[in-house]
Amino acid sequence: MGKKYNIAVIPGDGIGPEITTAAIEVLEAAASRKDIEIFTKELKAGGAAIDAFGIPLPHETIESAKESDAVLLGAVGGPKWDNVDSDIRPEKALLGLRSGLGLYANIRPVIVFDELKDASPLKNPGQIDFVIVRELTGGIYFGKNGVYQSGDRLPDGTVKGKVAFDTESYSEGEINRILKIAFDLAMKRRKKVTLVDKANVLVSSRMWRTLASQMSFDYPEVEFETLYVDNAAMQLIGRPSSFDVIVTSNLFGDILSDEAGQIAGSIGMLPSASIGVNGMPGLFEPIHGSAPDIAGQDKANPFATMLSVAMMMRSLGEDEIASEIENAVKKTLASGLRTSDITFIDEGKNTKLVGTKEITKAVIENL
Ligand code: NAD
Repeated sequence: MGKKYNIAVIPGDGIGPEITTAAIEVLEAAASRKDIEIFTKELKAGGAAIDAFGIPLPHETIESAKESDAVLLGAVGGPKWDNVDSDIRPEKALLGLRSGLGLYANIRPVIVFDELKDASPLKNPGQIDFVIVRELTGGIYFGKNGVYQSGDRLPDGTVKGKVAFDTESYSEGEINRILKIAFDLAMKRRKKVTLVDKANVLVSSRMWRTLASQMSFDYPEVEFETLYVDNAAMQLIGRPSSFDVIVTSNLFGDILSDEAGQIAGSIGMLPSASIGVNGMPGLFEPIHGSAPDIAGQDKANPFATMLSVAMMMRSLGEDEIASEIENAVKKTLASGLRTSDITFIDEGKNTKLVGTKEITKAVIENL
């Protein structure tokens, strides 16, 4: 008897249904050759759930997601729901899923495929293949905040008026669990961890640095370096190929992962995984949004979602299927097929513009 996996699929809005359908077709084709059964359950979230139930994240979605082995998400949102009450905006579904599933680590690989090297805005970027591990449920986005009135004056006599504040606060437990994810990941890759912090100024960063240095002794094979976040922003542009695993706080990770995404050039190629509390399923999704401008037109690039499914299978211990999906995507790129978002990169070269369905068929044939 082969293994079975229950995958909760949340297509969401816009191109979400097209790209999740494509990625699941590829997964089912890859799994069937390995005697692995994939059971999918489609769940609603975002605008689709607002239309059906009046709320972006129904109880049934979060409960069914918890019972699954892993969750695949397309994307949520779109102009149709731009003016709904702020309490029920589609994006609320993302925060609800993260907190409901205890997803404290966001893992975003940044790879530039050889065939798409010209997509990077950097000249001669070298072999770019690194991963950002971002803490997702702590730090300044979740710390104490507020606004109060102050009667004090600044040294030059200016009245302070209202004061707004946010707090960066991290516990040892929160830091150690995300560091462990980063070091374990480095052991499976090129064995290098870069901690990004602001330890020259922030007390919380000094704790990150102390704990990361301590943990590095448990991983003698892993090269460990530290960078201040301002320097890291420069080095990502200056020497992107030197990075392997970058680990950092919620705020710094939010900013640096978008910078890193741009280095790779095309938003339609980048997958992500959010993982967390033991026993809870991970959430896998492309980094792009619901692309309402091309929804329903068979134009969406499904590669980021297929690569997210590969990350999902690797997290479930199915490395072979993961590698097969990744190789089939590479082979399809090498064959010259392109969706519209990556066509411009190869203009004049030996490439052919195709739609979501045709490129998905090609990936399945290339498995
Ligand atoms: P977007 O990522 O949806 O689109 C930006 C541009 O990239 C568009 O021109 C789009 O056509 C193109 N694009 C994106 N993904 C593509 C793909 N797979 N293939 C081809 N082209 C692709 O960002 P946006 O336009 O700022 O946002 C649209 C909606 O998506 C908004 O409602 C936003 O809130 C939502 N959004 C959701 C998520 C999520 O669910 N995780 C993330 C970002 C944005």
